[in-house]
Amino acid sequence: MKITKVEAIPLRLPEEDIKYKSTGVNEALIVKVYTDEGIVGLGESWTNAIMGKAIIDAPFAWNASSGLGRIIIGENPLDINRLYEKMYKESFYLGRRGLIIQCMAAIDIALWDIAGKYYGAPIHKLMGGAYRDTLRCYASDTFRPTPEETFESARRYKEMGFTAAKYGWEPLGQNEKLDLALVQAVREGMGSENEIMIDCGCCYDAKTAVRRAKQFEEFNIYWLEEPVDNDDLEGYRRVAAGTSTRVAGGEGNNGLWQYKNFIDNSNADVIQIDLADNGITVGKKIAEYAELHHKQICNHYYSTPINLAAGIQFCAAIKNVEFLEYCVELGPIQDSLINEDIGAVNGYCKVGNAPGLGITLNEDTVEKYRVKDYVLK
Ligand code: MG
Repeated sequence: MKITKVEAIPLRLPEEDIKYKSTGVNEALIVKVYTDEGIVGLGESWTNAIMGKAIIDAPFAWNASSGLGRIIIGENPLDINRLYEKMYKESFYLGRRGLIIQCMAAIDIALWDIAGKYYGAPIHKLMGGAYRDTLRCYASDTFRPTPEETFESARRYKEMGFTAAKYGWEPLGQNEKLDLALVQAVREGMGSENEIMIDCGCCYDAKTAVRRAKQFEEFNIYWLEEPVDNDDLEGYRRVAAGTSTRVAGGEGNNGLWQYKNFIDNSNADVIQIDLADNGITVGKKIAEYAELHHKQICNHYYSTPINLAAGIQFCAAIKNVEFLEYCVELGPIQDSLINEDIGAVNGYCKVGNAPGLGITLNEDTVEKYRVKDYVLK
């Protein structure tokens, strides 16, 4: 079997619907990898869709500076490990963090999807088999503008059957009184019997983060996420040492070596991996390295159901997983992108057994939101 084409498809809402927000729902970047045997693999990169398309479509410049797609054309898609290294090597002058790694992730997911379809097995089987056949989801959302609205939202997720919920980002970090009221609202909305997580969205300096972590202890939060800036690993260590609450982080990292540094130096308890920014090949290595350090693993996901499908397959096959991140409110692109219903029922996602990712694209949605002939002005 040979790869014949790599297609990067940027999707974007109409300009009048683009909102300034912390969630990745305005756009999506889908990748299709075609083969000469008719199998097509699906992947996604959680990145700037137009920039990502350029990374994948760009021509060969020299042998360590090539667009990603052409590096793997003509190759056997089942050689997933080797092809990851080939892409890594032949693009290494373009940078070892960020966009390049994020776009390699989309191609890597598509190769795993092809392998699953070829062998007639779900991805978790190819990864060594499942530890679990359902995944406990936490409803993932951003804080509402007020504590009252946040309370109502959390109460609704509880009524939907979720036993855990995470809220984060703005308006957290504006002042102490509001921060405490927001977290209290989440706790009261979800009730004392359920778990809550708080995502700081890197809004604090280390001193404030330690203070908030201690203040939030009365609300019994399961983890405190990204309390300080991604580059402030000393700050992470100070927060981890200053509270009895688990500290989570990692979603801002791309690739094995950035994660190694994060795991070695942050003292975070929960390592979050966005598969649409890292891929399954490297995600598995990161999870296994984290396991050796007794860390909990969780997927990170705020993009499309392709990433959710990858997360379900991945989290089924990784040992130290307790929760699946599950975004409850996304957007029109994400809501209608696939034909299958892989969503949570009563707060749990079922681990699918269909080949590969087990999903197909709704091509009407792809055509509706596809960016055609984007011109940089
Ligand atoms: Mg987060």
